[in-house]
Amino acid sequence: RKLGYAIVGLGSYATNQIMPSFARCQHSRIAALVSGTSEKLARYGAEYDVPEKNRYSYATFDRIADNPDVDIVYVILPVSMHAEYSIRASKAGKHVMCEKPMAPTARECEAMVAAAAGAGKKLMIGYRSRFQPHNVAAIELCRTKAIGDLKMIRTAHGFPIQPNQWRLDHKMSGGGSMMDIGIYSLQAARYLAGEEPVEVTAVESTDRRDPRFATVEDRIDFTLRFPSGLLASCISSYSSSHNEYRAIGSDGWIELEPATAYRGQAMRVRRNGATSTPNIDTSGPDQFVGQLDHLAQCIRDNRTPIVPGEEGLRDIRIIEAIYRSMREKRAISLT
Ligand code: NAD
Repeated sequence: RKLGYAIVGLGSYATNQIMPSFARCQHSRIAALVSGTSEKLARYGAEYDVPEKNRYSYATFDRIADNPDVDIVYVILPVSMHAEYSIRASKAGKHVMCEKPMAPTARECEAMVAAAAGAGKKLMIGYRSRFQPHNVAAIELCRTKAIGDLKMIRTAHGFPIQPNQWRLDHKMSGGGSMMDIGIYSLQAARYLAGEEPVEVTAVESTDRRDPRFATVEDRIDFTLRFPSGLLASCISSYSSSHNEYRAIGSDGWIELEPATAYRGQAMRVRRNGATSTPNIDTSGPDQFVGQLDHLAQCIRDNRTPIVPGEEGLRDIRIIEAIYRSMREKRAISLT
């Protein structure tokens, strides 16, 4: 049988990207919906064939414990609500998929990891790019030293943010561009490097007269230093568009642009003095399906997901160090 997901939060990402992807899944299905808006429950319940008994409000959410149709709770809420709903889901005896960024603070991430472990259930973070074929190929090329020893990584992620939304309210988002989109630069640097950074330096540029940036940052440029000597120079922005990375080795480079978008990835590789655009096989599961079915298969086979809660926690610890570096204007050790 396909494992049943309860979708918590019927906002933009849930309804436009995640829910339509289940139609292409082999191991996962939508079993329940959780929303504070009864009209959304009725509309999406009808659209996705979710019976009324499997539609919950935030007040009735904990009753999900008694519903055998639900194996996994997928938290797709504003960031400040991730820890509460992940922990409630773990306590209800369910496995959890939680959206990025995992939570506003490392302390909350630790509590989420502990709750899942205490319940003996899995916790995975929605790092979809790890299931995107071009990204998987880029990681493999780095690991097999197709471009020699990695020397530098350059990556930038950003978009001009629209005003008046929870992402710009520090209480709900936990931070600005870094938490929301810069985290893709951080993730890419770490998964391309294949080693953990030992030091970070960060510089902020935010126009505080811009009403969008009253409580959160706009731009951060940060540099990660890795044990091998590799440096990753990363950009996070809420005022300009970027979605790219380049891994540069002793014998060439790999570039993805866009790198972590929902679709349309394009890769170029420079090796032996020639630049090529490798043909990446995209006939298999896309990144959304790959992510959803990965957790279902890990539960079936009792394996740890490739992006467990601990991986989300690592990013949040580094983001806390990035914020600290930016405030204290000095390099922060991560060891
Ligand atoms: P959204 O604002 O469209 O949806 C948030 C949902 O939470 C809405 O349905 C809203 O009604 C609900 N909600 C419940 N209580 C709320 C409250 N007190 N205040 C505001 N909203 C409340 O946001 P989104 O873009 O769907 O983002 C949701 C989560 O998904 C975030 O964690 C975000 O980082 C993540 N996300 C991930 C990706 C990705 O590619 N992995 C893409 C977009 C968003």
